[in-house]
Amino acid sequence: MNVTKRDYYEILGVGRDSDDKVLKDAYRKLAMECHPDRNPGDHTAEERFKEAAEAYSVLSDGQKRAAYDRFGHQGVPSAAGNGFDAAGFPDLADILSDVFGFGDPFGRGHAGQRRTRAQRGEDVRYDLEIAFEDSMNGLSIDIQVPRMEECGRCSGKGAEPEDGLTTCPICRGRGEVIYQQAFLSVRRACSQCGGRGQIIRRPCKECKGEGYLRRERKLKVNIPPGVDTGTQLRLSQEGQPGANGGPPGDLYVVLKVTPHPIFERQDHNLHCTVPINPAQAALGATIDLLTLDGLQTIKIPEGAQPGSMLRIKGLGMPHVSGSGRGDLFVHLDVRIPSKLSREQRRLFEQLRDLLPAENEPSGKGIFNKVKDYFM
Ligand SMILES: [Zn+2]
Ligand SMILES: [Zn+2]
Repeated sequence: MNVTKRDYYEILGVGRDSDDKVLKDAYRKLAMECHPDRNPGDHTAEERFKEAAEAYSVLSDGQKRAAYDRFGHQGVPSAAGNGFDAAGFPDLADILSDVFGFGDPFGRGHAGQRRTRAQRGEDVRYDLEIAFEDSMNGLSIDIQVPRMEECGRCSGKGAEPEDGLTTCPICRGRGEVIYQQAFLSVRRACSQCGGRGQIIRRPCKECKGEGYLRRERKLKVNIPPGVDTGTQLRLSQEGQPGANGGPPGDLYVVLKVTPHPIFERQDHNLHCTVPINPAQAALGATIDLLTLDGLQTIKIPEGAQPGSMLRIKGLGMPHVSGSGRGDLFVHLDVRIPSKLSREQRRLFEQLRDLLPAENEPSGKGIFNKVKDYFM
């Protein structure tokens, strides 16, 4: 309908490669300048305001912007063709509320809805530290959670039952005040009653007018085996209460697992280090290792190298899903005695004379040895 439709970038006065922030700033500036509330009766300002809103709605949407860049106005369906459609303009309400200090200027929704709109309560986070063993075996534990509960005396209204409330004299019970200006109908929540339409004449004795009481609640938390630091358990609807009949939020128990002095977790595997002496390394040995599953007899093979490890299947952490467990890796730390008795010295001297001395430098060898491991 409009052959002389202006370029969107030109309308906002920005370059074609502007990022979102530049676009938003430019649009905000224009919206402030041309807003009909600031230019009552000025038709040109109103047109520029609509134009800017249309340009911004297209350019702030990645897909629409790409289409516009390729095909121009043909590429995007016109939003301003037949009057102003507020729903098509993202961020407009946001920006206007930033700029002018009120909410949705187009009054979507009715006063009645606004006042009693159900709102879901907030989610609550509860941090819980548990022992390493408990993260392995699972745990059922009671926690005390402070939360707000609706006051029973006033059903959350904050006023004495019977005669505590009275109709708001400013909005006469509507909960909002309407300003009509140019093509905008601006609805604003009544500041006197906070949009409720009623004001408290006599505050509830129980909650002092708050409508809510702080209560400690005991909750049972079932922690499954295999959880780790950062695992979140959601307790549905145990968060803060909703408003106007909305559902409560959720409670998230966020776990921290105390590190174990011996066993270190990596994914679902556990790692520990066991010192052995050179004779055990050379000859092999059978040792008893106290694992988290009790005493285990472990066979160290003949010729175990420093840095090698043993893998014990199924003694790692359980999977939270309940299917199977990781493995336990035992790292062998071959320790050379630093103090020798007379007898030990004699035997080492014999060994020295019998063992081949391989003292050629071999840089790579060291790293290859570390990779050894026994199943
Ligand atoms: Zn009011
Ligand atoms: Zn109360």
